[in-house]
Amino acid sequence: MRHQYNLETRCIHGEDRESADHAFGSIPVPIYQAATFSHPGIGESTGYNYTRESNPTRAELERVVASLEGAVDAVACSSGMAAIGLCLELFGAGAHFVCSQDLYGGSVRMFQTIGQERKRTFTYVSTADADLVEKAITEQTKALYIETPSNPTMQITDLEQMSRLAKKYNLFLIVDNTFLSPYFQNPIEYGADLVIHSGTKFLGGHNDTLAGFLCAGNEELAKKIRYLYKTTGACLSPFDSFLVLRGIKTLSVRMEAQQKNALSIAKWLKNHKKIRNVFYVGLKEHPGYEINRKQARGFGSMISFETDTEETARKVLENVKLISYAESLGGVESLITYPMLQTHGDVPKEVRERLGITETFLRLSVGIEHIDDLIADLNQALR
Ligand SMILES: *Cc1c(COP(=O)(O)O)cnc(C)c1O
Repeated sequence: MRHQYNLETRCIHGEDRESADHAFGSIPVPIYQAATFSHPGIGESTGYNYTRESNPTRAELERVVASLEGAVDAVACSSGMAAIGLCLELFGAGAHFVCSQDLYGGSVRMFQTIGQERKRTFTYVSTADADLVEKAITEQTKALYIETPSNPTMQITDLEQMSRLAKKYNLFLIVDNTFLSPYFQNPIEYGADLVIHSGTKFLGGHNDTLAGFLCAGNEELAKKIRYLYKTTGACLSPFDSFLVLRGIKTLSVRMEAQQKNALSIAKWLKNHKKIRNVFYVGLKEHPGYEINRKQARGFGSMISFETDTEETARKVLENVKLISYAESLGGVESLITYPMLQTHGDVPKEVRERLGITETFLRLSVGIEHIDDLIADLNQALR
């Protein structure tokens, strides 16, 4: 897809400047806090009828996100999980999915409960290994479901390889692109059919709004998704649409600043005597470094690491002052989580431990505070 403007400009204006013109010359899009819109005449419409289906504030947000992802269309949902639920609605009973083995815990919960009750089945493999993915494909397989980098062990999956497999076996390629955001990675360019975002994270960027997106790579999927979207109703409110749109205006500067901080922290952690392993895609020794460099413009700002003992891990969580011990990620505030108890609490213990998500495993989302303050905080918490 050819764009008139560069990514940084499209974060602010979308694909073209004219579509962002508003009544009275208002620079930001007004918040159209309306559930319903009157019709000019019988059988006529202003383009908007009822907000479950569409709303001018949300439509602007959707245009911007579709532009950033190079998608035909994007629908804005009330949360990332609502977007994932909507995506699953595209598939009927009997559909089988091959998934990355360390998906976001909420996705695993949805697949293993609601998904299975609706007769869909899921196989989890290391999608970093294309042979394992190919072996897991069956007659019933309808889609590959990927996170790269994965959550929380930061494994990288080769999107071109996945796209080749998807074409060979006539599958949909679905990518949850939350961790790098469209600023650093555009899976549709590499053959993805569907891209999912938790807009709560980098897109919103301020830890203040829940949102989700389902982006379609072609017109046929876009049409089906629009129909499911207005029918199931998990749409983003006009005010929250405004907040996420406002967040996206600074996506480029936030992503760059967060990544810069994350690289410094990853290098610092690597040399700390109480730290065993650091998982950060931006470190050259990361096994997925080269593949990520081929398919993404950056490494992001998510770091996982292992401490020497469980006691150290617990101390870090209890002693951080500037960094908050909280779920979520991607915002301007740095947050640290205990995946074993929080994001991956619902993943079966033996699966969790096989992935290395143990009592010494922590995940840090690096914000835009001054690097010296962040390192000083980690340093005192690790003492
Ligand atoms: C947070 C998250 C989700 C779920 O999004 P919500 O907005 O919390 O519903 C899905 N995938 C990934 C990778 C996430 O980090």
